[in-house]
Amino acid sequence: MQHQTIARRHGEGASTMPVWAATAAPGPELAPLTAEVEADVLVIGGGIAGMTTALHLAEAGIDTVLLEGGQPGSQATGWSGGLVAPDYIRHTPETIGAVIGRQQGERLTRMIGGSARAVFDLIERHGLDCDARPEGFFTPAHTEQLAHSQRAYANQWQVRGYDVRFVEAREAREQFGVDRYCGALRFGDGGSINPLGYVRGIARAAQGQGAWLFAESPVQTLAREGGRWVARTPSGAVSARRVVLAANGGNARLHPALERTVLPLHVVQFATAPLDTRQREAILPNGGAFTDKVPYLFTARLDAQGHLISAFPNSFLVRGEKAHLREAARRLKQHFAAIAEPRIDYIWEGVAQVNPSFLPELYDLGDGALAIQADNGRGIGINTQLGIEMAAAIATNSREALSVTPRVPQPIRLHAGAAMLPKLLMSIARLSN
Ligand SMILES: Cc1cc2nc3c(=O)[nH]c(=O)nc-3n(C[C@H](O)[C@H](O)[C@H](O)COP(=O)(O)OP(=O)(O)OC[C@H]3O[C@@H](n4cnc5c(N)ncnc54)[C@H](O)[C@@H]3O)c2cc1C
Repeated sequence: MQHQTIARRHGEGASTMPVWAATAAPGPELAPLTAEVEADVLVIGGGIAGMTTALHLAEAGIDTVLLEGGQPGSQATGWSGGLVAPDYIRHTPETIGAVIGRQQGERLTRMIGGSARAVFDLIERHGLDCDARPEGFFTPAHTEQLAHSQRAYANQWQVRGYDVRFVEAREAREQFGVDRYCGALRFGDGGSINPLGYVRGIARAAQGQGAWLFAESPVQTLAREGGRWVARTPSGAVSARRVVLAANGGNARLHPALERTVLPLHVVQFATAPLDTRQREAILPNGGAFTDKVPYLFTARLDAQGHLISAFPNSFLVRGEKAHLREAARRLKQHFAAIAEPRIDYIWEGVAQVNPSFLPELYDLGDGALAIQADNGRGIGINTQLGIEMAAAIATNSREALSVTPRVPQPIRLHAGAAMLPKLLMSIARLSN
């Protein structure tokens, strides 16, 4: 029976820690903050956004303290799938201009288009041990109509100098080992990483450059005192001239203007047992990673140990840990002929914080405080870029470096109801899958 072939690694329930907890290289030992300290810049949050900001601030010689409530990568970053996807979610290089203006749109396209390269360059520059796989990122098309528009879409990137092309159905079939797509867009700069190893590596590099990093130091209050920002943790405080809020889902609790600005998208990630030789020859034989374009999306990638890592959006229709496990197995069998009896070793649920614009946002909170709010389920590349740009903007005292113009946050109307929307939409999408 199918459920007999599904193994689990941890605990009694079906859920486990992310596979990365077992496979990522260790990070630096970080102590909690136990004193009152002063810094030029305080960064709150040790995910990709905050850690990249801290690294580049320290490299620029700026006195930087980072406070992380848990350990580096303990929220979205360490729970993610690790796909490095240099693409828009909803917009395109041609349509973005109508939303934010032509010049600003081109700027954002360059940032997003270059985001995967920024990740792999950073990995190379600092020798980060994080299973870097710059093998390409694909978005397969499930209909001829979508394949047709993707051919034109590839051109929008090509004319701007990016390595993006459409691969036809046969090549897609050979590339993925999946028989249901009419072709796929290939983003040559994309790929995948071990996201926990990545952020731990950035932490180590930041520390090496002189940033002061503190773990298990949740900021309980952030306030203006005597013309400076003061953040208090359970056992210490930081006083800083400027502050970067990079706490993602935690930003709303740090500053009232950030309340009700994001919507939660629940995603179930899972990893199979290492594939056997026959399966590895059939499934993603040349590597690469993909996320398809159906609302009830499907993703796939491999890691160094041969786990096949995939995901599905959580809905009201698949409830409870055992149901998640059955759904994971169903989706694998639906896509991969080479997996008859899926064995799932890791399954975990994370929450991505989505902006209603589906675009990365920077918020200006006044008095030298800026917030990065750019998860959107796609932040590995983009939040790396934003961290680099944020540090450059602070170091030069100029916003020229920013591809995203910081604006005043606007709460989402009827937020309590809107927060149910992603799961509701995914429930509808699940019905047709
Ligand atoms: C299940 C899932 C799968 C995903 N898959 C992908 C993918 O394949 N590819 C991709 O590009 N993106 C993916 N994403 C999105 C990506 O993980 C995020 O966009 C990115 O990691 C966000 O980074 P961040 O630094 O902004 O936030 P986070 O990683 O959430 O970091 C914020 C940090 O702030 C800390 N914090 C919170 N409150 C406080 C406080 N009061 N004081 C101190 N610290 C605090 C938290 O502990 C946390 O470590 C996925 C997300 C999820 C949830």
